[in-house]
Amino acid sequence: MNNHAIQINDTTLRDGEQSAGIAFNIEEKIAIATLIDSIGVQELEVGIPAMGQDEAESIKIIANLGLNAKLLGWNRANLSDIQASIDCDLERVHISVPVSDIQIAAKFGNQRQLVLDRLRDAINFACDRGLSVSVGGEDSSRADESFLLDVAQLVQEWGAFRFRFCDTVGILDPVTTYSKVRQLVSHLSIPVEMHMHNDFGLATANTLAGIKAGARSVNTTVNGIGERAGNAALEEVLMALKCIYKIETGIDTKRLVELSQLVAKATNYRVPPWKAIVGENAFAHESDIHAHGVLQNPDTYEPFAPEDVGCKRRFVIGKHSGRHLLLSVLQKYGITLSSAEIKSVLDAVRHHSVQIKRSLTIEELLSLIPQGSQLITDR
Ligand SMILES: [Zn+2]
Repeated sequence: MNNHAIQINDTTLRDGEQSAGIAFNIEEKIAIATLIDSIGVQELEVGIPAMGQDEAESIKIIANLGLNAKLLGWNRANLSDIQASIDCDLERVHISVPVSDIQIAAKFGNQRQLVLDRLRDAINFACDRGLSVSVGGEDSSRADESFLLDVAQLVQEWGAFRFRFCDTVGILDPVTTYSKVRQLVSHLSIPVEMHMHNDFGLATANTLAGIKAGARSVNTTVNGIGERAGNAALEEVLMALKCIYKIETGIDTKRLVELSQLVAKATNYRVPPWKAIVGENAFAHESDIHAHGVLQNPDTYEPFAPEDVGCKRRFVIGKHSGRHLLLSVLQKYGITLSSAEIKSVLDAVRHHSVQIKRSLTIEELLSLIPQGSQLITDR
């Protein structure tokens, strides 16, 4: 593993907001940008300045918040887009061009040379105005590999500081990602950035494969929001880097749950309970075998401590719970039960949780305890 520094370039406010059905207002954008910045993310893609006046105004406000992170605007390869970024007071621009034949046919009439001409002009325009320029190959994963390499090498020559490898349609797997990114990295001196979509649920895995292949920057979104099935999730990439690859990014992961909830509220979409890292079930234990193990030693069934992401461990009583967990929960209420009572309470818990199709609240559990059981010592 190449233990180089990995830079996070979070695009919650650009690709994330492009999700169908999501629209942030300016207060939400400011709150999200400020929190992501405060945990130490190094770079934020804050929107598309050419999208219109409202978008441009909010980007300009964010650009003038005095954040520590570098801010980037997303542009097509045309001069008016770049000018719109300049007008928003941005000092970094990302310029995206299609690189696969299927995209070039649809957008540039099949003319690869036209793509290159427009890109060169846009880079020159931006560099002449003192901007730092990142370039992205849209649909890099389906591009002809030699053309992709030509584009990347040319943009390096023309002054771009980074090349973004985009799996725009999310069709890669980690093995293929590794070999494609390795090829780019080995022929470029500028860093490669990963931009992975999650159409097959592989965005985070592919991002990690790209890092193994030598990519030094990654695009993420909070909760993995984004076009269609979304992007690589910030919280997944950060915790995988930290716990699996032992790479320190310098980012404070203890506020990831808080950040996840802020973005969930702004998107008006609840985080699924099984969402990796930040879902409400990520540290919930109901089954007796797991709960018993975790009560002995949390490492038995938890990959890292919940506090590392600002979460709390929860034990819940439900259909799969057994004696150990029940007694442990009731102990907190000063309740002990006889063996016969334990069996009858567990039977009642199972019956009730199937009926209500969830685990029980503590009040529901206590209502199943036989009268007179409280504060009776073990019999
Ligand atoms: Zn994207």
